[in-house]
Amino acid sequence: MTLFEKIIARQIPANIVAETSEWLAFHDIQPQAPVHVLVVPKKLIPRVGEAGLDDAAVLGALLLGAKEVARLTGILETGFRVVINHGADAGETVPHLHVHVLGGRPLGWPPG
Ligand code: AMP
Repeated sequence: MTLFEKIIARQIPANIVAETSEWLAFHDIQPQAPVHVLVVPKKLIPRVGEAGLDDAAVLGALLLGAKEVARLTGILETGFRVVINHGADAGETVPHLHVHVLGGRPLGWPPG
C-alpha cells in the first residue's frame, strides 16, 4: 500500500479536511503555506502522467475537490495555487497522485 492508501484506510492518522467517494483531502504534514492541503484520489493512480482516458472523471473530481478545499479553508476569494508534481525534476516523493492546494499568503511565480 502507498502512504496515502494507508491514510485513506485510516491506518495512518491525518488531519482530514473533506472526503467524497472519489477523494480524500487532508493537511500536508510539512506545510509550505498557511494553507497546504493534499487532495488524493481513492483510486491508485501513481502519477498524473500515468493517468488514462478512463481516469478523466477522477481527474476532474480532484480539481473540483481543490476548489472545495479552497472554499472550506477560506482561500477561495484571496487566491490559491493547485500543484501536481510528476517525477524527479518536479520533486515528487509519494507515488500516489495528489493535488497540492496552497494559499493563505502571496505565492511567488515562477516557482523556484
Ligand atoms: P510530492 O512531493 O508532490 O510527492 O508531495 C508529497 C507530499 O506529501 C509532501 O508535501 C509531504 O510533506 C506530504 N506528506 C508526506 N507524508 C505525509 C503524511 N503522513 N501526512 C500528510 N502529508 C504527508
